[in-house]
This record gives sequence, structure tokens and C-alpha cells, in this order.
Amino acid sequence: MNKVLNILKRKKAILSGHFLLSSGLHSPNYVQCALALSDTKLAAKLGKALAAKWRGEKPQMIISPAMGGIIIGHEVASAMNLPFFFTERENGEMTLRRGFKLKKRIKVVIVEDVFTTGKSTIETAKVIEQRGGKILGALSIINRMGDRDLPFKNFSLVKVDIKTYEPKKCPLCKKKLPLIKPGSREIKKKN
Ligand code: ZN
Repeated sequence: MNKVLNILKRKKAILSGHFLLSSGLHSPNYVQCALALSDTKLAAKLGKALAAKWRGEKPQMIISPAMGGIIIGHEVASAMNLPFFFTERENGEMTLRRGFKLKKRIKVVIVEDVFTTGKSTIETAKVIEQRGGKILGALSIINRMGDRDLPFKNFSLVKVDIKTYEPKKCPLCKKKLPLIKPGSREIKKKN
């Protein structure tokens, strides 16, 4: 497991520093899988490793929520020799589009890049169940849910504990480390 964690750190999937999260909180870590998955050989390896993590009834297909889950979901499906669909938001609502139709009672495993709050995984599960599918569980590369859990069986390659701080109580601000807003090139000064 440590090996996967080291690879993810080296590939910048888990960053260390001083980050401004979309929640407004500050954190010494930031998780993003897109850069790591841009290495197609690594994406295939992670897909195989994640497919091997599954314990339980064999799924008949893999479904991932867009955008984050698509690449790794496709790799897991490929490793398990299964078909792959993705859900996406339409006017804010998670749905299945693009002619994706589920067979009745089809057994599905949901694959994500990161379990954070579990919101998109749970919304995807609802969409699948509403259309007659059966959720066996879920897989992710990274689990950073902390004390939270999903309402079904789930496995991840690595579990990381991401600390967050209120800006006023942030020890990194006290150390005057530059605050980075991920996804932008700008480095904000402490307010
Ligand atoms: Zn801070």
C-alpha cells in the first residue's frame, strides 16, 4: 500500500504544502488524480490493482461518475473485462445519458478516483438503482473520507488522512507559508 502512496505522491496526485480548498478551509495536502492518470501506463496499472482489490460477487459492469471517475473506471472495467458506463450531471442532477441503458438487475460496481464526501458515489448509486441496477459496492484509488463511510461495501488502494484548518486557526498561515489555490497558477498571499 505504501508503494502506491509513494507513486501517487511522486506523480503529484497527493500534494504537500499549504492549500486553499474549495470549502474555504486550508490544508497541508491536496488530492488530485488527473495528473497521475495522464500517465497511461500508470493508469492501467492502478486499474489492475483496483480490480484486484474487489472482494465480493463478480460485477457485470462498472459505472463511474464524470469527470473524476471516468479514466480509472474505464481502466478497472478493462482489467475485469467488463463494459463501462459513466454518469454525469445535467442541470445539477446526476443522470445516465448518451444512450447508456441498464439491463434489469445488472450488478454494478462504482469506481471513483477519490472518495471525499461520498456525495457523487451515492448519487451515482441512486441513478443506477432507479434504473433497475443492483449496487454491489464501490472502489476508489484514494479514500480521504476520514470517519465517514459509504452505505455499501467499498475498497480503496490508499486511505489518506487529510487535515483541514479554519483559516484563522491555520498553523501553516502562522508559519507564513504561501497559500496555493489548486488548479490556478496564482499563489495567493495570506489575507
Ligand atoms: Zn493557512
